[in-house]
Amino acid sequence: MIHALVAASLAFSSVPAQTATVNCARVKCLALTFDDGPGAQTSALLKALSKAGAKATFFLVGKRVEERPEVARQIVAKGHAIGNHTYSHAALPAHSDNDILDELKVTQEVIEEATGRRPTMFRPPYGQTDERVLGLAAQTELAEILWTGTTLDWQLRDTKKIKATVLKLAKRDGVILMHDVVPQTVTAMPGILKELKKRGYHLVTVPTLLRGKGPTAGKSYF
Ligand SMILES: [Zn+2]
Repeated sequence: MIHALVAASLAFSSVPAQTATVNCARVKCLALTFDDGPGAQTSALLKALSKAGAKATFFLVGKRVEERPEVARQIVAKGHAIGNHTYSHAALPAHSDNDILDELKVTQEVIEEATGRRPTMFRPPYGQTDERVLGLAAQTELAEILWTGTTLDWQLRDTKKIKATVLKLAKRDGVILMHDVVPQTVTAMPGILKELKKRGYHLVTVPTLLRGKGPTAGKSYF
């Protein structure tokens, strides 16, 4: 029954129109990315993104998807991209091969169960990665997505400072790391989106930013 509902909602949402229309080789693109959710503020963030016509990428934590599967489903239905951010937000290099594979594979299952989609991208918690982690990601058919700018929003916890940091880090083909579990980030987002659009940015998903040249499993980006 749940699967039938997921299939129906995906059929209605279809492929995000943006993938076909925004060519980042020709226009100024920026990818906003949100880690650690879904959380209590994610739905509010989705509304702000929709209102601005912006697409984003969400790196989801498996155990949080289990808590809020309907929010994960909503992210996909709105045309955003999703990635794997491990099951328990583990610092991967400290773990055995088997534990790393478990963290990645269980999350793939949980996300697919909730959204009907199997991620092709992952982001290592704390940005901690190495060749072994990347090899295990390749076995799990995942590309590694890092970032060009991190806001440290979880440390700032201040709407004005978060906005100023995002605007400072923004650059053509950049990938900005934020957290949808930080309430001040979500509060700051309408103002951030307005200013980025004023500066000529097209706000796109990571796959759109890669212009069809990826993500490829076992490769690391940004
Ligand atoms: Zn994280």
